Amino acid sequence: MQAAANTVVRFHYRVAEGGAGSGADIESSHVGGEPLAVLLGHGGIIPGLEAALIGKAAGEQFEVEIEPEQAYGPLRPNFVQRVPKKYFRDPAKLKPGMQTAVSTDQGARLVTVLKVGMSVVDVDLNHPMAGKTLKFAVDVVDVREATEEERAHGHAHGAGGHHHD
Ligand code: ZN
Repeated sequence: MQAAANTVVRFHYRVAEGGAGSGADIESSHVGGEPLAVLLGHGGIIPGLEAALIGKAAGEQFEVEIEPEQAYGPLRPNFVQRVPKKYFRDPAKLKPGMQTAVSTDQGARLVTVLKVGMSVVDVDLNHPMAGKTLKFAVDVVDVREATEEERAHGHAHGAGGHHHD
C-alpha cells in the first residue's frame, strides 16, 4: 500500500544540512534503532517531508532536499523573548548557547538560551533548524491504514509512535 493521508508510515531517516554546506548528520533514527511512526495528513512532521513520503511504499528508499519554507521556516532575526524561569523544567542548569524546551500555550517549544538572569531568561525562539535547507535520507519500513483512534488523536500509536501513560 502507498503512503497517503490517514496512513501510518514507519521509516528510518537521516537528516543533514543540505545545499553547499552539507555535512554530518544532525539527527538519525538509526541511532536509537527504532523507526519513527507518523500519521500522515495531521501536521505531525514538516510539510516537505510529508509531501515526499506521499505515494511511497514499504522498502522504498529516497533522498530529498527540503527548503526552509517547507521545513522549520526562515530564520527570524531578533526573535527573542524574555521568559520567567518557572517556565523551564530545570532552570538552575540553564547556560547561554544551550537548547531547551519551554512550556507554551501551544505545548513545549525548543529554544536556544541567550542570557540567564536572576528570575528571567532571554531565549531565541527560532527552531534550531530554522533557516536551514535539510537533506533527508529515508528508508520506508512499512505503510498501514490508520486506526479510528489514531485519526481522532492525530498521531500514530504503537512502536515508534505516541505512547499514552
Ligand atoms: Zn493517542
